[in-house]
Amino acid sequence: MADKILEFVHTSTGKQIAAALGLPVPPMLKRAKAGYAEKSLSNSNALVGASAFGPVASAVVKALDSMGASIKVSADLAGLDGIKQAAAKAKVDVSISQADNGVPETVYVLDVTSAANVADLRLLYDFFNPRLRKVPSNSRIVVIGRPRGDCKDALAETAQSSLPGFIRSLAKESGKNGTTANLIQVKTGAENGIEGALRFFLSPHSAFVTGQVLPVVGAPKGVKVAAFSEKPLTGKLAVVTGAARGIGAAIAEVLAREGATVIGVDRPADESVLGTTMSSIGGVACPLDITDADAGKKLAAVAAQKGGKIDIIVHNAGITRDKMMRNMAAHLWDMVLDVNLGAIVRCNDQLLAGDAFGVNARIVCISSIGGIAGNAGQTNYAATKSAVIGYVDAMAKQLEGKGISINAIAPGFIETQMTAAIPVVTREVARRLSSLSQGGLPVDIAEAVTFMASPLAAGVNGATLRVCGQNLVGA
Ligand code: NDP
Repeated sequence: MADKILEFVHTSTGKQIAAALGLPVPPMLKRAKAGYAEKSLSNSNALVGASAFGPVASAVVKALDSMGASIKVSADLAGLDGIKQAAAKAKVDVSISQADNGVPETVYVLDVTSAANVADLRLLYDFFNPRLRKVPSNSRIVVIGRPRGDCKDALAETAQSSLPGFIRSLAKESGKNGTTANLIQVKTGAENGIEGALRFFLSPHSAFVTGQVLPVVGAPKGVKVAAFSEKPLTGKLAVVTGAARGIGAAIAEVLAREGATVIGVDRPADESVLGTTMSSIGGVACPLDITDADAGKKLAAVAAQKGGKIDIIVHNAGITRDKMMRNMAAHLWDMVLDVNLGAIVRCNDQLLAGDAFGVNARIVCISSIGGIAGNAGQTNYAATKSAVIGYVDAMAKQLEGKGISINAIAPGFIETQMTAAIPVVTREVARRLSSLSQGGLPVDIAEAVTFMASPLAAGVNGATLRVCGQNLVGA
């Protein structure tokens, strides 16, 4: 389950051999070593630009200031005015950055929400072109735009529609040294959700997320976007299915790190492994097959025993039973459909009917890039993972009025027992075919799930975020 090539090329001998043979060296990604910190950017220079002064420029300046970043604006005027006005209004200091001043920035945030025609897109070039030759490793790039349907006319919508293509290409260009580039599409009126999204994308918590588009659409009815606090899940009760091992165990650990009490669910056959995982994080082991007809009711009862309602549920348990469609036995189809999809729908229905969710509860489902790209031999699996994407989108609309959010994470190639079983050549190709030239770790999925489960993602609803290092599979 370890990427031996990645480890080797970062040893001194490995570096020499790679250099002598001209081999590509996958970057060593800087991952979070602890929970979210208030002043997470206190040692960072953040170059910031905006196409105009407005609510997004203001939100960006305030967010970066609250994270402790040194805010720089470009001396060559690209995006200068909007940010200067926002900073003056917020009484936040900004300083001028020269493109060749020898102190490169590690954070780049460009607000292009007011780009309304083709000419306005020149800002993308003017802002990034002078600096991208010297970006330090593991830097963070975020562009902020508007989603389709939120623009004043067809021309503005056309301009905004350039941004996904731009960011996906920039992510492919900058991934070689571990730098990520992502796009936040913020809906008009949802600007108070920008800080949470920036805290995730500008931090080591999102080390394996690049080339992605995250819509920030606003919090559900009755939900207030809270100011940032460390350990944001303190006091929350979280259920994680498939928590005995692999990605589920990592999710349970990261949720607990951020303050949640975790009820870990796994099949009764895995009770002892589950018990070990849960006792290491002060969680509660709940041996339960999620395909049980009344699994949701049982989970509600366990939560009630812990004295509360469910604030977070992560539907992580999933199985593969790969066969070409023409050779697939009906029971393999049924089994995968039931574990990966039927159980999620039934469980949520029972929890909703039983009023088992707490106020502002957050539901996170695990999809897969297999559900986006498809894989030969995985018609059953890909059908369920694709359905999850539609499910969160549809349910977000249905649950909006109840103050409950629902989102999904779509993992790419993750170093687990599942991917260790792939034949070596296929595995090596799948690993390297991403902008970051490596597979992810279970903790990368856990970090993204925790973001979606936390108040940082208060404005995110109905979305599926890929955590795949921008893998070409599913691109
Ligand atoms: P694992 O197989 O390592 O872990 C899944 C866990 O879920 C196991 O402990 C498993 O128990 C449990 N589980 C399975 N069926 C049930 C059930 N009916 N009731 C309760 N628990 C159950 O998987 P991963 O950690 O690799 O994957 C986790 C999720 O991420 C899955 O949804 C998967 O589809 C998704 N994913 C994973 C990727 C990867 O690269 N690993 C890529 C894309 C998506 P048991 O061992 O007894 O079966």
